[in-house]
Amino acid sequence: MGQRILVTGGAGFLGSHLCEELHDRGHDIWCLDNLETGTEDNIEHLKRFARFRFVRGDVRDPFPDMAFDRIYNLACPASPRHYQADPIGTMKTSVFGAINALELARKTGARVLQTSTSEIYGDPEVHPQPEEYVGAVNCTGIRACYDEGKRAAETLFFDYHREHGVGIRVARLFNSYGTRMQAGDGRVIPNFIDQALRGEPITIYGDGSQTRSFCYVTDTVEGLIRLMEADDSCIGPVNIGNPIEFTISELAALVIERTGSSSPVIRRPLPQDDPKLRRPDIRMARALLGWEPVVGLEEGLDRVIAVAREMLDDGDRSERA
Ligand code: UDP
Repeated sequence: MGQRILVTGGAGFLGSHLCEELHDRGHDIWCLDNLETGTEDNIEHLKRFARFRFVRGDVRDPFPDMAFDRIYNLACPASPRHYQADPIGTMKTSVFGAINALELARKTGARVLQTSTSEIYGDPEVHPQPEEYVGAVNCTGIRACYDEGKRAAETLFFDYHREHGVGIRVARLFNSYGTRMQAGDGRVIPNFIDQALRGEPITIYGDGSQTRSFCYVTDTVEGLIRLMEADDSCIGPVNIGNPIEFTISELAALVIERTGSSSPVIRRPLPQDDPKLRRPDIRMARALLGWEPVVGLEEGLDRVIAVAREMLDDGDRSERA
């Protein structure tokens, strides 16, 4: 039997891949999105299906009064460029979005999953980061609207679970990437690929020694669904990420190699509070969900590069026409 599933932020990069996978598995999907950073292009191919519905709405407003079996709460701008453009709005999205999702779950008995983030570890003093690490976030810095919003959302999830017995799951995602990230998204992988394909300088912020661990979107989606369907002894928080770590300089070199670009590398100032190291400890996901990533960075980059190249060629063609 298919489940009735609400995906908030379902027209975003990650949300649209999740909607697609859940739909493919036979479920009924309601995709809620305010289209602030998501786009209808991401879900255009799903709109023709009867089991997929798009609802334009904002998670800061109370949710439609409907019963679901599952709620995946993804809605929130995730790129520093986007979440810092309206920091108060970002914090409200995490906090009010969590409350609205949890209230609906409390009233209707839905199970609800929060997509939290490695950002809750801040600029970590423990490396790699296990789930029990409580983090080091600068609560007055420019990233705090996202980090502290996501931390508050985790708190709300656990309090609704303890106070009201709501069935919760909390996933902490580490730098997901894949197709459907916008070229102007501002995050490092779409930036580098767009710059490399256009022959423009690759912009490394700082000295490039900071690290990230990049998880391909299909792996992230599989981790989220496994956590949602795990038994009640596994509510999280669980790290979902790829444990293979790269410096940003290594990433730049890899993008140049895989695109065959002759772009030069240039340096730009490191943004405030940019975490120096980030790598998930995924022992919990391996043990409890039987999950680990299967797509390596080279393979994932090749998939994204192929689509980005096609879109750039299409754009060039329509400009010439
Ligand atoms: N970064 C970079 N050049 C860019 C975009 C980002 O060097 O054009 C760096 C950024 O400073 C950070 C890392 O890449 O150290 C990852 O940045 P992103 O915005 O993708 O994600 P987050 O910082 O939230 O992990």
